[in-house]
Amino acid sequence: MEKVEKIISPSWIFLAEEGDEVLKDHSIVVSGGAIHDVVPTSDVFQLYEASEAYQLSNHLILPGFINAHSHSAMSLLKGYADDLPLNTWLNDHIWPAENQHVSFDFVKDGSTLAIAEMIKGGTTTFNDMYFFPEATAEVVSKVGIRANIGLGVLDFPTNYANDPEDYLTKGFAFRDQWRDHKLITTCLAPHAPYTISNKTFELINTYAEQLDLGIHMHLHETRSEVEDSIKAFGITPIQRMQDLGVLGPKLMAAHCVHVSEADAKLLSVNGVSAICNISSNMKLGSGIPDINQLLQRGINVALGTDSSASNNALDMMREMRALGLVSKGLNMRSEFLKPAELIRMATINGAKALGLDELTGSISKGKRADMIAINLDTIESQPCYEPLSSFMYSADRSSIEYVWIDGNTKLKQGQLVCLDEEDILQRTKIWQTKIKRI
Ligand SMILES: [Zn+2]
Repeated sequence: MEKVEKIISPSWIFLAEEGDEVLKDHSIVVSGGAIHDVVPTSDVFQLYEASEAYQLSNHLILPGFINAHSHSAMSLLKGYADDLPLNTWLNDHIWPAENQHVSFDFVKDGSTLAIAEMIKGGTTTFNDMYFFPEATAEVVSKVGIRANIGLGVLDFPTNYANDPEDYLTKGFAFRDQWRDHKLITTCLAPHAPYTISNKTFELINTYAEQLDLGIHMHLHETRSEVEDSIKAFGITPIQRMQDLGVLGPKLMAAHCVHVSEADAKLLSVNGVSAICNISSNMKLGSGIPDINQLLQRGINVALGTDSSASNNALDMMREMRALGLVSKGLNMRSEFLKPAELIRMATINGAKALGLDELTGSISKGKRADMIAINLDTIESQPCYEPLSSFMYSADRSSIEYVWIDGNTKLKQGQLVCLDEEDILQRTKIWQTKIKRI
């Protein structure tokens, strides 16, 4: 018998590859932090001997969620400014608060709060864009979550850097320090077309090509962003990015809410991934992304939460359900965006967007063991005629009982491993007191 680390035996497994099939009574065998095998539970104990065995007879296993657009440290600004349009929210509230408070320690404590929430909600990889990335990386490394951390760039000064060159110098120093970490990858993260000049985009594009780095940015979030670009440049932000050579398969375009047919075609022919953040878009009154239009063009659609300052949660289950229900309603098509497709958007499509699909995003032999187990034997989920339906329409994140990242247990019976919730709550309250003193 082959010795392995873990045997996980749930009732159901959704692999998040092609098709809607749910495996029944199969076990996942984990060895060396990777998915070593998926075999019928009736055979598994004849083939393998494990250090740990999980009998999860009421559970559905999914790949861990990939939060493809986040600003984790902004969790400290959760509920700080609500029910405002994006421009007012950013210019009059969020940016002034950030000027006052953002520091290495703010990012470290904010990222800790966010990562704790993300793991409890089944997120095993996040794609982050913020300042002081080394503070986020410290927490990522300590906790053991997977992260693609952006090297943030803006054309104006912040507490982190003075000008585009300064942002990039600091970003590359961070990248050099963390480039060999097994759970951390990096990309360039210019904030948005309305905060970055053509000259800076040219610099970013050169680095992206030379270093083979992805680019993560906000794109077509509001109607005024598109209208202002047409006034200033005579073209939409997507057309401007095309002219600058920024569009390509390595571009992770967050939002894509107001996209014309011509712009959707440009995203499609260039292989850009669109990252939908529907709760943030709705809460800021920015609009609703037309997922049907993006899917019709064959665009890879992934999901993100955006920050807790605009969401106000980092809950991928809530994002899937909101996107599914709103899109069904808008398109007047009940069969549109079934649970399997929404789960793929929250998992494998996110991995493709981040360029990590060889490593994670589905339950496939050889990939790293990034997985979650959801208990469907609860008042809200029973009766369970079909597990993906119970998961999508009835369960909530409190049903997530186990999270494994890179084969290591990070949530066990609903309790965080490696993080002290009491300590996080105390630190968060201290920040709340400081921030309220503005
Ligand atoms: Zn954002």
